[in-house]
Amino acid sequence: MSGIYIHIPFCKQACHYCDFHFSISMKKKDEMVLALAKEIEMRKTELKDEVVETIYFGGGTPSRLQIADLRLQIDSIYKNYQVAQNPEITLEANPDDLSEDYLIELSKIGINRLSIGIQSFFEDDLQLMNRAHNSAEAKKCLEIATQYFDNISLDLIYGIPDSSQNGEQAKQMSNQKWIQNIETALSFGIPHISSYALTVEPKTALNKLIQTGKIAKPDDDLAQEHFQILVETLEKNRFIHYELSNFGKENYFSKNNSAYWLGKKYIGIGPSAHSYDGISRSWNVSNNAMYLKALEENKLPSEMEILSKTDRYNEYIMTGLRTIWGVSLDRITTGFGIEYLNYLQNQAQKFLNDDLLFIENNVLKTTRKGKFLTDGIASDLFYLNLE
Ligand code: SF4
Repeated sequence: MSGIYIHIPFCKQACHYCDFHFSISMKKKDEMVLALAKEIEMRKTELKDEVVETIYFGGGTPSRLQIADLRLQIDSIYKNYQVAQNPEITLEANPDDLSEDYLIELSKIGINRLSIGIQSFFEDDLQLMNRAHNSAEAKKCLEIATQYFDNISLDLIYGIPDSSQNGEQAKQMSNQKWIQNIETALSFGIPHISSYALTVEPKTALNKLIQTGKIAKPDDDLAQEHFQILVETLEKNRFIHYELSNFGKENYFSKNNSAYWLGKKYIGIGPSAHSYDGISRSWNVSNNAMYLKALEENKLPSEMEILSKTDRYNEYIMTGLRTIWGVSLDRITTGFGIEYLNYLQNQAQKFLNDDLLFIENNVLKTTRKGKFLTDGIASDLFYLNLE
């Protein structure tokens, strides 16, 4: 099993918290669309013995593309790869792009899963984050999208500072407001939610706004409370917390992301996209002009690193602990050796004692109490400098 990720590097405007690769100029859109289809073709041998089960349009904002642009990519994949019978084909989309006509056309070209960047149903949050849509558009698009798509995920952000007061007096998103956001999302009957704490990345407008005192710094304790509310509310509504930031009803887990977390092969097409073949990781240049120039010269603008055993172990620890599949101690022994198992058991002991980790059927997992702290726990279990 394998997957193809296609990065669409265009957005309508820059969200204040975002550090992904994108351009707000659409001038090179047509060239980019042709280059992406060309890269898909150029890399066909990389998955020659594999069946493609998932296709994922991410970004950036894939819904900035026209239907014909998306269809060109899908056609290029079907022409050059073995594709499974019913592949999961996901499109990340923003609410302001999802008109009824566009949704109907998306379903006709084979898109069967939408991941919609709602983030919040409150006007002040959307403005603070500089999202391109408003609250009414968020609700309207879900009303229409649910008529044409059954497999829908939406993104929500918690721990957002409250913009109603500025500077040092600024407040944070209240628990009440957060609960209302989750309940509004649930009222549309969608089967999947991805939810993240607002994080402040160094080179973002959000960081500048915080440094200059215009927006309050997100509060970690409050984010933890929001996370607990999220987990409890969604579990009560029959969502399975299958990855730290992802909740799905039965049969609605993201197949694309699950494959990634389970270490399956994938190729990433487009500027800044990453690929993984089980041994090495590669990534394309994060620059649209350089990407286009390389493709014009029939070159692949990527760099590659062979993952060491330690790298692979560390990645397995991180992804394993974030998911319900956990870290198999048998797999640590067979894949990495007894030295790694002993190290892991030693490092994990204090977290087992503190009820932050537990072992079930020889698989190490995070407890409910440990979940919010997963990334920190995982980094304490990382193996360092052994090779
Ligand atoms: S729409 Fe998504 S990719 Fe584009 S700027 Fe906003 S968060 Fe970043």
